[in-house]
Amino acid sequence: MKEGRINLYSDTQTRPSAAMREAMMQAPVGDEQSLADPSVNLLCERTAALMGKEAAVFLPSGTMCNEIALMVHCRPGDEIFAHESAHITHFEGGGPSALSGAHVRSLPGERGVFSTRALQQAIRPDSRYFPRARLVEIEQTANLAGGTLWSLEEIKAVTALAREHGLSVHMDGARLANAVVASGISFAEYAVHCDSVWLDLSKGLGCPVGAVLTGSAAFIDEVWRWKQRIGGAMRQAGMLAAAGIYALEHNIERLAEDHANAKRFGALIRAVEGVRLTPAEVETNIVFFDVAATGVDADTISEALENRGINVGAFTTTTLRACTHLDVTAAQVEEAGAAFAEVVEQLR
Ligand SMILES: *Cc1c(COP(=O)(O)O)cnc(C)c1O
Repeated sequence: MKEGRINLYSDTQTRPSAAMREAMMQAPVGDEQSLADPSVNLLCERTAALMGKEAAVFLPSGTMCNEIALMVHCRPGDEIFAHESAHITHFEGGGPSALSGAHVRSLPGERGVFSTRALQQAIRPDSRYFPRARLVEIEQTANLAGGTLWSLEEIKAVTALAREHGLSVHMDGARLANAVVASGISFAEYAVHCDSVWLDLSKGLGCPVGAVLTGSAAFIDEVWRWKQRIGGAMRQAGMLAAAGIYALEHNIERLAEDHANAKRFGALIRAVEGVRLTPAEVETNIVFFDVAATGVDADTISEALENRGINVGAFTTTTLRACTHLDVTAAQVEEAGAAFAEVVEQLR
């Protein structure tokens, strides 16, 4: 992909702002792996407090948060229940099977949410014939399902069932901040139902690197063993943590702008004949849409937009994803929507 002027490809593509870079420059630092980096310590304290958890650890990526959490929760042969669109299933290089030796059972459900009924049907009795049921994974927001929200009621119901069966609960909170801003429900109100939960700093929060995994003190002790073992323990990581602290202070509430921009982009492209939003409503900062009925390939549309300096990713031959973030303005969304309409008219 050639990066254009208007990058709707992903909220991972944000650049650290001047103010964030300044905070990084000023950061007090120390040796992270001996817990002596004040900036990392502060980031971890703040994130743990936000989530209402005892402890937190700074990791280089969200993927590492997921994979280490799964290694701590699971043993080889265990079974993890997740929605069929889950990031751990599609984008982590087979991590759960390669690293934990656990396998992921994919559950169906609308908008990235599976029902208690689907979970109940999937949980097998305790028997030496079956994999041992161990963990329920919830992705908030559900990325591939379109940045959709699990409601608090849905989370309560599914996690209550998990508890009845003695299962642990992990939340992939890559975009939990988007869920908090969209719903008005706090981080802690979501996190209280989960044993482990993490937040990505390098998505909509605009940091260059990093994610923070939280849980009980005992859980985080085990996470640290894996972090050390696989080379995720760092040194003067405070410069990166300072970006995270800056983001927690300045970049959460503004996610509402990204949501308004995504809704506007959805409205603009939905007006083009043959375009269908999937799902039909834009809930946060992600817009998935189907262009099959225009008769033009998703790839062809993506390339034509790229030639105009606009990045929108083709996901399948008929679907595309646009993602808003802090480096995309409302005016750019108008321009991208208009360009999309023109491109489709020219190509069909
Ligand atoms: C991006 C993402 C991840 C992985 O985070 P990285 O920081 O890119 O490793 C995990 N889960 C979901 C839902 C994501 O969108």
